Amino acid sequence: MNVYADNAATTAVSATALAAMMPCFQEIYGNPSSLHTPGQRAAEKLAAARETFAKYLNADPREITFTSGGSEADNQALRSAALLGARKGKKHIISTKFEHHAILHTLQALEKEGFEATLLDIPPDGVVTAEQVKAALRPDTCLVTVMFANNEIGTIQPIPEIGAVCHEAGVLFHTDAVQAAGHLPIDVQSMHIDMLSLSAHKFHGPKGVGVLYARRGIALTNVIHGGAQERGKRAGTENIPGICGAAAAFEEACANMEKNAAFLEPLRDKLIAGLTAIPHTVLNGDPKRRLPGNVNVCFEGIEGESLLLLLDAKGIAASSGSACTSGSLDPSHVLLALGRPHEVAHGSLRLSLSEYNTEAEIDYILKELPNIVSYLRDMSPVWDELEKGQRPHLI
Ligand SMILES: *Cc1c(COP(=O)(O)O)cnc(C)c1O
Repeated sequence: MNVYADNAATTAVSATALAAMMPCFQEIYGNPSSLHTPGQRAAEKLAAARETFAKYLNADPREITFTSGGSEADNQALRSAALLGARKGKKHIISTKFEHHAILHTLQALEKEGFEATLLDIPPDGVVTAEQVKAALRPDTCLVTVMFANNEIGTIQPIPEIGAVCHEAGVLFHTDAVQAAGHLPIDVQSMHIDMLSLSAHKFHGPKGVGVLYARRGIALTNVIHGGAQERGKRAGTENIPGICGAAAAFEEACANMEKNAAFLEPLRDKLIAGLTAIPHTVLNGDPKRRLPGNVNVCFEGIEGESLLLLLDAKGIAASSGSACTSGSLDPSHVLLALGRPHEVAHGSLRLSLSEYNTEAEIDYILKELPNIVSYLRDMSPVWDELEKGQRPHLI
């Protein structure tokens, strides 16, 4: 059986999204900046896609900028807020220790340019609090950026509460909603969100298309310089097929959100129950306050990479953290921020489901995984020491 359980890394393009893209390759291929009819037909597609995103975020179409993905949207959001802050002499930014690298590395770049970042600690349940944000605010704070839902452990952050704290203090609030968009309800008005990033390939849209929402009045800084596309804020001929696919996927995901969550949550909980029944296994992040399809556990005494290879041999595609950190030997910065010791963080496994998964697939994972964990532990010198009491169990 082949099971794709790495939907937090990327998803399959839905049939609806693909159908929306197809005419844009050979029929509606004009450049939306062109004045002729083929160009204007493409411009209409672009405008319709912008309206779709605005509608489901409760925003205005003029507040929607298309980018090449979540990473670019994050970069542009942070750079824009930083520049606006710097003009007022405010160069302090608040974020968290478990953001995606698109945020953390942009903050590192900004620190080299004279900005200062405070990264909030992650409580053991994987949910930062509005009180933490409030306590970190300073007179020179220009931006708070906290992700909507974490990409590794799936925990959902108190976005409306954090937004309210920011707005009370007159500080801009950005959220990286790449894992949340299409999976959780988002309302930029009631949630006090000034800027938001999302990415189509995390909700069955195509790769290479993102959205940056920025509340009216927030002047965006260009990351890509050139032509006047996207109201002058993002140069480059628009990726019309990708944008149309993204909008169709977003509409589909938002329309089916409750149904998908009602389907996924019991599967997620079944996986969590089955996996945490394996001795010396711990769930990462709050059991309920997490994305409907996210499971993330640590198995003591094994290496996540070996686990992934053996799972792959059984047809199961999973992850040990984020796609961006796999391939490096460092354990996940998210699990370390959660307080997991290095040796425990190394034994992590993320299974991220989508509505394309089936209960039979969950049962297959639960049948195979305990055997693989036992097999790896039997071969592990570390496990041997743990079992002989020569080193203490950490979980
Ligand atoms: C995937 C992801 C990104 C990056 O999005 P891309 O479209 O792949 O650039 C950023 N933030 C989070 C939380 C993500 O999960």
